[in-house]
Parts: sequence; C-alpha cells; structure tokens
Amino acid sequence: MIIAIDGPAASGKGTLARKLAEKFNLAYLDTGSLYRAVGLTLLRQKADPKDPNAALAAARNLDHRLLNDPDLRKEDTGRAASIVAAIPDVRTALLAFQRDFAAKPPQGMAGVVLDGRDIGTVICPDADIKLFISASDEVRARRRTKELQDKGLNVAKESVLADLQDRDKRDSARSDAPLKAADDAHLLDTTELDIETAFARACAIVEQHAAR
Ligand code: C5P
Repeated sequence: MIIAIDGPAASGKGTLARKLAEKFNLAYLDTGSLYRAVGLTLLRQKADPKDPNAALAAARNLDHRLLNDPDLRKEDTGRAASIVAAIPDVRTALLAFQRDFAAKPPQGMAGVVLDGRDIGTVICPDADIKLFISASDEVRARRRTKELQDKGLNVAKESVLADLQDRDKRDSARSDAPLKAADDAHLLDTTELDIETAFARACAIVEQHAAR
C-alpha cells in the first residue's frame, strides 16, 4: 500500500503521515527532509541556494547523515530547501531515491507513507490513497511557532507567518512539480481540527479504501 500525503508547510501532514505509518505498519519517508538536507549543505558551504550547480552537486551526493541533523528543522533551512526545490535538476536527482523507497518497503512492512508537495502528482501518481492536507495561514503559523518554541528556538509568529507564505508562494509558483492537490486526492482541511480528529478522518479514508 502506498499512501501519498501532500500539503503546504505546517499543515499537519508530517504528524498525520507518521501516525498513519505507525497504525498501519507502513514505512515513512519525509521527502521534505531530502530538500532540507540539500539546502542545509549549501548554507554550510556558504553557497547561494539559487546556484544550480552547487545545488545539483549537493543533491547528487546527498549526505544522509544530515537527515538527523537538528539544524534540518530550522526556518532558514526550510527557506533554502524551497529555493533548491525549484531547480528541476535537483528534483530529478532526488526522484529515484523516493520512488525506490515507495517500491521497496523495508522487510516486514505492509507499504509506505510518503509526505511532501508532489507525492500524489509526480513521485507516486499511482498511489493507493492520496491525501492533501491544508489549514489556514494563521493556524499553520501558530502551530509552527509553537513547534519551534518548544524546541527552545526564539521565534515570533509574525516572522514565521511571513516565512510560510513566502515558501508556499515559491512552492506553488514553480514550473516543475508545484505544490498542488492531485485530482484524485482526498482533501482534508485541518484548520478547525485537533490532531486526534484529523487523524481519525485520515484513518477513516484509509480504512474505507482497504475495505474496497
Ligand atoms: O515539508 P518541508 O517543510 O520539510 O519541506 C521543505 C521544502 O522542501 C518545501 O518548502 C518544498 O519547497 C520542498 N519540498 C518539495 N517537494 C517535496 C517535499 C518538500 O519541493 N516532495
């Protein structure tokens, strides 16, 4: 079983993806972390994330140890990720890893959950279940600010909001694999939902599919 979950930054898709993976015995891949690792590589090299050659080299030689680096979750890493993610060659370089993961779940797992921006549209267009998670800008900014503050980072909601909107704009406007819902995706707006209610809705969608 392949579950594809897409949506804008801080929509709750990562939490839902992780919880679904746990409940249904599926392997989980946070594809945003791949773009973040490329962005972080460039920031550490003091290279410009817009530099296509540097970004492509980082994507081709992705250092997988960076996927556990605490700096991966920082806002400036997210910003750099969305800049490198707009470079088509970078996306191509990361495509095979994601498709391989989807095609070969680790032993004993019943399938995979991938979350990102283009999973249902580009990476796994034949996914069994597609979810597109959204939430209002205000709610997303509030959630992301709390998440960062809980990690001890000193951030203001206004700047988090501006950053999210900036990132959404770049992710939606790029020509290659823009952020958008697949035509056959189930839309789940989590603005008014707490995580348990959103999770119950997502589970119902998966169970409905499994019963078919
Ligand atoms: O989901 P996350 O905030 O970690 O993603 C960071 C950035 O990586 C996004 O803003 C987006 O530009 C990029 N991304 C992407 N395609 C994906 C996952 C993430 O372009 N499948």
